[in-house]
Amino acid sequence: MSNLVEYFSRRKEDIIKEIQHFIELETPSGNAGHIAVMVEDLATLLKALGAKVEIITTEGGPSLHAQFQSSITNSQETLFIVGHCDTVWPLGTLKRRPFEIRENRIYGPGVFDMKSGIVLVLEAIRGLKELNRQFNRPLEIFFSCDEEQGSHSTRDLIETMAKRAKAALVLEPCLPGGRVKTARKGIGQYELSVMGCSAHAGVAPEKGVSAIEELAHQTIKLHSLTDHKRGISVNVGVINGGTMSNVVAAKAFAEIDIRFWTKEQEKEIVAELESLKPILPGAEIKLTGKINRPPLERSEKIAKLYEHARILSQELGYELGEGKTGGGSDGNFIAALGIPVLDGLGPDGDGPHAEYEHVLIENLAPRTALVARLIETI
Ligand SMILES: [Zn+2]
Repeated sequence: MSNLVEYFSRRKEDIIKEIQHFIELETPSGNAGHIAVMVEDLATLLKALGAKVEIITTEGGPSLHAQFQSSITNSQETLFIVGHCDTVWPLGTLKRRPFEIRENRIYGPGVFDMKSGIVLVLEAIRGLKELNRQFNRPLEIFFSCDEEQGSHSTRDLIETMAKRAKAALVLEPCLPGGRVKTARKGIGQYELSVMGCSAHAGVAPEKGVSAIEELAHQTIKLHSLTDHKRGISVNVGVINGGTMSNVVAAKAFAEIDIRFWTKEQEKEIVAELESLKPILPGAEIKLTGKINRPPLERSEKIAKLYEHARILSQELGYELGEGKTGGGSDGNFIAALGIPVLDGLGPDGDGPHAEYEHVLIENLAPRTALVARLIETI
């Protein structure tokens, strides 16, 4: 076993305790008060490790920003480390599903997505300091407050920081088997409003234009744009409309999620959306929304960064796999700027956003060692 893996294996109980601590500070997206408690704890911990720390408050709540200098280079180009403090779990989930260790797995709300990932960063930095090892370049760390809501209030900050970076590490959940994510789909969020004309469904149905009928046509058309083979999906996930069963509906509304692997596909699908036309005479439609996350495409730079991490993991005694996912992260914004990103660096586990969410205890030390080696070598 490598020295670093051995070192972090000896720290296992402390790592687990720290993960427990952050799980038990419930931090649902949108709850600025709860997120503030976690961010203040992170600020204290990182300050103690020698970072310059600030708490940045945006509409979505407080986020943690920390910077470490490197003692071995004058380069201002940073290694950017990204995570999020918020979880998808509402307050009170902890009561029903508390922190728990079963069969060498840690369970609890937010453990996989992504409190363990944040603890790994703290622990890797702490370990390097204690072992008198160096950061290869300045570190810039950002743990945001609103990733699970689409990072609307933190995207600009992330992009500004990313532009200073040589590369970025994103501590989001990995794929099964600990594989990192070297490609992520882009995401668009759209709304379709349909206007028809109301009429009495019994007395004068012929005078009405049903917005619901129109939306049904549009829904079929939208879903026909899905192409699973190419990884394109268009999903009408929410619909509503109408007032009473005896009224021809004057209004209807849909929320649409679109996903795609490449910029080219993005253009193609957006053009389709923008060319939607009403089907029923007298109906009107209005599309709003936008691309929320560009695709994280596996560029040559990303492939090279992954290869670097794979060699490091071999030196640590294991094989690091890679894969792709339909889910987005803040890594999408960074990759779209041409900065190489290694995403899904959190410890092995399963069940993001699911009741069975967990991480594997045996993977904590090897994964922390990998993060430490990346900080030492990028
Ligand atoms: Zn996440």
